[in-house]
Amino acid sequence: MSGVNDIRSTFLDYFAANGHEPVASSPLVPRNDPTLMFTNAGMVQFKNVFTGLEKRPYSRATTAQKVVRAGGKHNDLDNVGYTARHHTFFEMLGNFSFGDYFKEEAIGLAWKLVTEEFGLDKSRLLVTVYAEDDVAAKLWKQIAGFPDERIIRIPTSDNFWQMGDTGPCGPCSEIFYDQGEEVWGGPPGSAEEDGDRFLEFWNLVFMQFEQQAPGQRIDLPRPSIDTGLGLERMAAILQGVHSNYEIDLFRTLIAAIEDVIGSKAEGDARASHRVIADHLRASAFLIADGVLPSNEGRGYVLRRIMRRAMRHAKLLGAKEPVIYRLLPTLVSEMGRAYPELVRAEALTTETIKLEEKRFLATLDRGLALLGQATDGLSSGAMLDGETAFRLYDTYGFPLDLTQDALRQREISVDLAGFQSAMERQKAEARANWAGSGEKADERVWFEIREREGATEFLGYATETAEGQVR
Ligand code: ATP
Ligand code: MG
Ligand code: MG
Ligand code: MG
Repeated sequence: MSGVNDIRSTFLDYFAANGHEPVASSPLVPRNDPTLMFTNAGMVQFKNVFTGLEKRPYSRATTAQKVVRAGGKHNDLDNVGYTARHHTFFEMLGNFSFGDYFKEEAIGLAWKLVTEEFGLDKSRLLVTVYAEDDVAAKLWKQIAGFPDERIIRIPTSDNFWQMGDTGPCGPCSEIFYDQGEEVWGGPPGSAEEDGDRFLEFWNLVFMQFEQQAPGQRIDLPRPSIDTGLGLERMAAILQGVHSNYEIDLFRTLIAAIEDVIGSKAEGDARASHRVIADHLRASAFLIADGVLPSNEGRGYVLRRIMRRAMRHAKLLGAKEPVIYRLLPTLVSEMGRAYPELVRAEALTTETIKLEEKRFLATLDRGLALLGQATDGLSSGAMLDGETAFRLYDTYGFPLDLTQDALRQREISVDLAGFQSAMERQKAEARANWAGSGEKADERVWFEIREREGATEFLGYATETAEGQVR
């Protein structure tokens, strides 16, 4: 069986043998990029190389990149525990060409790795290409010998990748694995594409344009390649399991959770074990990269991840801090590949333990309040905004934690009511205290913007002396 650590080295060794410079993962907090919450793809550390602003002594590179998708443009936080394929923290394996090879070699290299090194069954593979990209479609036909129906043309932004509103961009082609009819789901582009049967595992981006302004796109002088393969998804495929959470690494983490909390990962409890395992990784890697729990920006995302994990530990019956006790297992699984985890182990342990201690004191009382407030509510109902705000303000429940707690019962939160309670409190605070305004810059920088902006205002939170979220 290929474990996660073997798959990572097979990938890196393969691209090194094909002339790629192995480059270390960059930190989760992007250097010099205030626009980005966390490193969310392998290309982030090479952004300026693609645009030509920065030169490197190599034109091909390969990385195993630490990635967090829990805020900003890519946010998978709400998927964790509910889908079989999403994490908040994961490893993205990539190969990059900076004006060196382009589509033909990128597809050729990927195909050879997947079918020869990883030995995947060709009949289970299919690909998507951008609808207008005849070149890529033709190359897949030549290189993989696919019939037309296994080269699916997608006209949407799913197959056109952009770094942002401006910058390098281009069509992309993604490789999918058919996990078999026993898994629900349809091929990409179909109505059932959200199912897990056809698992996307590798995205090849053909960077051939530069978006200079809205509606203004020119050809890049040196077309480039950026790819991202999800390590945990590749492991699931190679290990013949239908969930990332059943791969070797997650089995080990979940066994440790069973041990420490004394609750088996069975039935309804399984989702909680998965959330804890996922959030443990995200928390440990973020702390190792210098993020500490706080009430603003990146630190608040970390705090929300940690507190969500703690609620799930509570659901499993934990009465005292337990998550910090999982660190030795994580470090022994991942510390060789990421020595920063080993170096930060003492800090991570203390930080998680302290956060657990602090939150456990209010978690119980908050859950009791939540229980009372929703007692008798049935599916489709809404929790009033005042209560959600009180949970946030007095008990340190991030809004998304309350939403997560109610999700299974299909109860939503009155967001408008929450926001007006928040506004009212801010107005009261302003009336009581003129304020120095010193936080204004930080707010602009770090305001947490999530989907639909529903929770944007959480970015205004400040810390009280008791350390509660306000
Ligand atoms: P999905 O459609 O499944 O959400 P994506 O299209 O958002 O994935 P990309 O941005 O194309 O993902 O990222 C490249 C690869 O990284 C994906 O093909 C997948 O293997 C992996 N990946 C993306 N998001 C996650 C995640 N949240 N957890 C684990 N792996 C992921
Ligand atoms: Mg996604
Ligand atoms: Mg996708
Ligand atoms: Mg994709």
